[in-house]
Amino acid sequence: MRKPFIAGNWKMNLASKAAAELAGRLLAKVSDFEGIEVAVAPTATSLAAVIEVLRGSPIEVAAQNCYWEESGAFTGELSTEMIKEIGCSHVIIGHSERRQFFAETDETVNKKLQAAYRAGLMPIVCIGESLGHRESGRTMEVVAGQLKGALKDISVEQMQQLTVAYEPIWAIGTGKTATPDQAQEVHAFLRGQLMEMFGQNVADVVRIQYGGSVKPSNAKELMDKPDIDGALVGGASLKADDFIGILGYRN
Ligand code: PEP
Repeated sequence: MRKPFIAGNWKMNLASKAAAELAGRLLAKVSDFEGIEVAVAPTATSLAAVIEVLRGSPIEVAAQNCYWEESGAFTGELSTEMIKEIGCSHVIIGHSERRQFFAETDETVNKKLQAAYRAGLMPIVCIGESLGHRESGRTMEVVAGQLKGALKDISVEQMQQLTVAYEPIWAIGTGKTATPDQAQEVHAFLRGQLMEMFGQNVADVVRIQYGGSVKPSNAKELMDKPDIDGALVGGASLKADDFIGILGYRN
């Protein structure tokens, strides 16, 4: 009942020309992936070029980050209103690289989430444990804390628009993927948390993407798990053939 949702996070790669070219290659294939929601998240300076290429197409565009204030003296930041105005439908919030390198916390993730809703953007909220957390048996405690912190004061109605991305940090950009069973275990746990926090309807509709070294060769076995509803793809989304291979996981 949940439509699979696969998003490519291009991170700080692909300036406008290269980003527009990649968007064009995806656009040429998008009719092959009916029934799958597809989004790409270019770097901020490439948003306009990619949005221009994808205008009117089913491929959605996400920003990789946002700030929670509407305007003002916040050098270098982008407000959610600016992101909405340029033509994005989604915004990624709380990616582990932002938590690790830019001091994001569950509290700032929550502020950004509130700002995303204010502007009418659909959020993709990233959570995930470190290798240390996993090895010390704290995975569930850590992801539950991140989920609760991120979703503080969010309403049942707002939750309908939200996607959770479970991304174990030890699997991001490392080539190490969580096994489908490891990922499913956490996804099922997170869905249980959503049920406790927001009720059965929210738990049933909110999509939980898996992220961490997803590639064409492992996408199907991950996506076949009942609580894995999509993927947030980093490295493999930078190459048209690999991303198209992931989007075609059912073929
Ligand atoms: C990501 O950054 O969200 C990610 C999952 O990266 P990769 O696919 O490269 O591990």
